[in-house]
Amino acid sequence: MEAWRARVTFHDEAAVLMRTAAANGGTLSGMAFEINASRPPCYNCLRLLPNLAYDLGNPTLTLTDPTGARRIIRDRTIKPAE
Ligand SMILES: [Zn+2]
Repeated sequence: MEAWRARVTFHDEAAVLMRTAAANGGTLSGMAFEINASRPPCYNCLRLLPNLAYDLGNPTLTLTDPTGARRIIRDRTIKPAE
């Protein structure tokens, strides 16, 4: 397991991605889905989720938090949703 992946294992957003990939044959390739988080993502998640998502098949992931912030994660980047 890569070190950065071990660091995100205990963050909910990352855990959801890893569990969903595991339930889907180990990949999220070609998928598009949304995570509605109950708290704003922490600094580590904002920094590491793009790499984790890319490693799991580069899905199009929309991350929404209770502040109303919406972010799109794809291609190792995280951008505000339009
Ligand atoms: Zn986090």
